[in-house]
Amino acid sequence: MNSGQALETLHRIDREYRCLEKAAAVLQWDQETCLPAGGVEERAEQLALLEGIAHERLIDPETGRLLAELGSVPENPRGDRALPEPERDFLRVTRRRYERAVKLPADFVSAAARAGGLSQAAWAGARRANDFASFLPHLETMIDFARKKAAYWGFGNGAGSLYDGLLDIYEPGMSASETGGLFAALRERLVPLLEKISLCPPPDTSFLKQDFPVEQQAAFSQRLMDYLGFDRGRGRLDTSAHPFTTSLGSDDIRITTRYFPDNILSGLFSVIHESGHAFYEMGFPPELRGSCLADGASMAVHESQSRFLENVIGRSRSFWTGCFPLLREYFPRQLKSAGAENFYRAVNEVKPSPVRVDADEISYSLHIIFRFELEKRLIGGELAPEKLPPVWNDYTREYLGLESETVADGVLQDIHWSMGSFGYFPSYALGNLYGLQILKKLKQDIPAYESAVAEGKFSLLYDWLGENIYRWGCRLEPGELLSKITGEKLSVNPFLEYIEGKYSELYGF
Ligand code: ZN
Repeated sequence: MNSGQALETLHRIDREYRCLEKAAAVLQWDQETCLPAGGVEERAEQLALLEGIAHERLIDPETGRLLAELGSVPENPRGDRALPEPERDFLRVTRRRYERAVKLPADFVSAAARAGGLSQAAWAGARRANDFASFLPHLETMIDFARKKAAYWGFGNGAGSLYDGLLDIYEPGMSASETGGLFAALRERLVPLLEKISLCPPPDTSFLKQDFPVEQQAAFSQRLMDYLGFDRGRGRLDTSAHPFTTSLGSDDIRITTRYFPDNILSGLFSVIHESGHAFYEMGFPPELRGSCLADGASMAVHESQSRFLENVIGRSRSFWTGCFPLLREYFPRQLKSAGAENFYRAVNEVKPSPVRVDADEISYSLHIIFRFELEKRLIGGELAPEKLPPVWNDYTREYLGLESETVADGVLQDIHWSMGSFGYFPSYALGNLYGLQILKKLKQDIPAYESAVAEGKFSLLYDWLGENIYRWGCRLEPGELLSKITGEKLSVNPFLEYIEGKYSELYGF
């Protein structure tokens, strides 16, 4: 077989695997948005079977053979036998994925998928009942699966810790010590800033403490998606316990949010956040459709897109200059006496909350840093899962100066650990860093971007993001992508400069 035929076969196997993966994602989406409680057990069986089949497709011995054969093709782009660049990237991603998958026994993969389904359902029930004990056995199982997975990949045995192995799933090449270094630098400047702000008079948020009917919020969300330029021919919005985005196909990107009548900001900012993820997914170029390259460079780069849209754009003065009049159309009574400037100040109120997704931009990173510390200890075996609730409270007090009143809004607030997604949390805070470092370049390239945002003209922004980020899919590793855009390595400084500049102006110091 020549290298062209070998690649063609690899692409076919990749497309089939993607189809199975997307079919499983449909079942998962349905589980999160509308599955009746009675359907949970059978759904777990269905998912386990489908993921088992997908895994078999992934570890097809033909893939191993073809990868070995193509491994001898020179990587020099000017060499005669060299492959065009996208194909080399395809091979790199395929090889990494194959080598990971082939090391996991099939029965382990099915068992992990089944346990994950049950664990997520148990988490949702435990959260509703504010009952950690009913979730504990599932948490222990998920930790065990995560540890075993990293061990199968060779971590925890000299070459990096088990936790390094889990981090690497979401942020290729980033170690726990590198992450810890960035986080220590963040914490060092964010904690005193939080203390300083706590001494300043807070903005007026009284107009937010009213009843915002859920139906009206849902209607506004649709309007907001249109305002942001969300192509609803290629996606939709639903509700779930925990907001998320999932791609069921190149032209079928689903986002979710959740509504609280006494908190309009939660649902609204989730829509903006998840739209940021969706635009990234919708922006992969046609030539990558259906291939493993149509994916984010990493979870942190994905979060850089969602958190950028949510915070840098969605919590900016320019954004609310344009969008506040629309919001007021939906809530004329509640927002009668408020203006765009009040609203801007109110949505940037710095007030640590025990709930991560409702946290302000400053305490948000602190939420992530302590989850990183906790999951590192859970995976390292230094913290017994049953000790988690009191230790969670200690961390909440130490990092945020708060007491968690319930486990539902404390240790049970996030879905991640119930899914076995240990190592995922750092992506959010790293995403902030990527986002602000990228903004520096965006501002140089489009000095007028803020006035475009104020006029609700976002296409300028998406075009730039498309040109610099979306079009690459996961062809570049996160560090390469950042360096291609900015010429720099990941750093905490642009984020901290943005935070310090914005909040010293808002709080007048
Ligand atoms: Zn996100």
